[in-house]
Amino acid sequence: PGSPAALDASKLKITLAQTLKPLQPIETLLFGQTFSDHMVVATHDPEKGWSPPELKPYGPITLDPQCSCFQYGGNIFEGMKAYLGPDDKIRLFRPDMNMRRLEKSCARLALPTIDGDAVLELIKCLVNLDRRWIPKESGYSLYIRPTVIGTRPGLGLTASDHAMLYIIVSPTGPYFAKPISLLAVSENVRAWPGGTGGDKVAGNYSPGFLPQRTAAEKGYDQILWLFGDDRRVTEAGAMNFFVVVKRDDEDGVDLITAPLDGTILPGVTRASCLALASDPEFHKEISMRLHPQEMVYTMSDLTKWSSEGKLLEALAIGTAAIVGHCDRIGYEGKDIVIPGDGMGPVGTAIRKKILDIQEGRTEWKGWGMV
Ligand code: PMP
Repeated sequence: PGSPAALDASKLKITLAQTLKPLQPIETLLFGQTFSDHMVVATHDPEKGWSPPELKPYGPITLDPQCSCFQYGGNIFEGMKAYLGPDDKIRLFRPDMNMRRLEKSCARLALPTIDGDAVLELIKCLVNLDRRWIPKESGYSLYIRPTVIGTRPGLGLTASDHAMLYIIVSPTGPYFAKPISLLAVSENVRAWPGGTGGDKVAGNYSPGFLPQRTAAEKGYDQILWLFGDDRRVTEAGAMNFFVVVKRDDEDGVDLITAPLDGTILPGVTRASCLALASDPEFHKEISMRLHPQEMVYTMSDLTKWSSEGKLLEALAIGTAAIVGHCDRIGYEGKDIVIPGDGMGPVGTAIRKKILDIQEGRTEWKGWGMV
């Protein structure tokens, strides 16, 4: 008694929607445009702590305009998916990793402490209740967006001791069916040492919209974010970036990505690709030997590998796309062209494996949580 309450999923209060919305034909789904019938909301204040969470009809929330989220952007979120397998079971893919990242993002913005395990319980309740929104077709899923916003009333420049958690879910389809073109950009940076690039904070994203628009005007789909005078390769759009490079010893291929130095978002998909790439069982399955390398590499390395014929594949990796392949990278007025027609063997093998785990066609190290 007296101490602020932790978020407690067992106190969930459920109010069901009176009428359910019609489902949308999957061919017409656009990412993040359609939402299910319900949402979860909980609020935090410094005296009482976290309120009992509520699962209620999806709808607007009301906030005081002085809330710090509107002024100082103290907002964080997660992105994950629920998949419906051919066995009719719902699976989440390594959700513990998202929950630890959510806790860490809250801590980075000095938001109230939140228990990710309780958030996961709430996600499960919402997804189970709204399961008719999970498309059955392979490659489709229910995108889950847990969000925490700072709701401290007042304009004082200080950490928000008030907060709101909400969870909304949206049916979604395959993200990049086509190859992605990237424009390597160094005049704008996404993240820097000591900044927030390693956390999923909302403020990381809006500064990317203008460069993204400029890239689109030049005919590129996404940005390849660089950092530093040496033009280090970091991430692609809101995805981690990998390249497949031929090795001098001809013993398989290197799968190279930038290290987690605080400027790179520690993607769940990234971690999964690296784990697969170092797993002899996976090598056997795909009859390929992969050497995962988390290392600093620059645009001059990419250019050199390309001119030597060693750059085999370029992959943009994340929950939304799983694995997307890039066909060209614009840099200093020229294109680095990735050879081949369509996704290469490494991207294809990793994509298939992850999708099989997500959709429950294969069991792998407990990654698919029913
Ligand atoms: N980088 C950034 C900047 C992102 O926003 C995301 C999406 N969360 C990723 C990488 C990929 O992370 P994940 O595999 O966990 O979706």
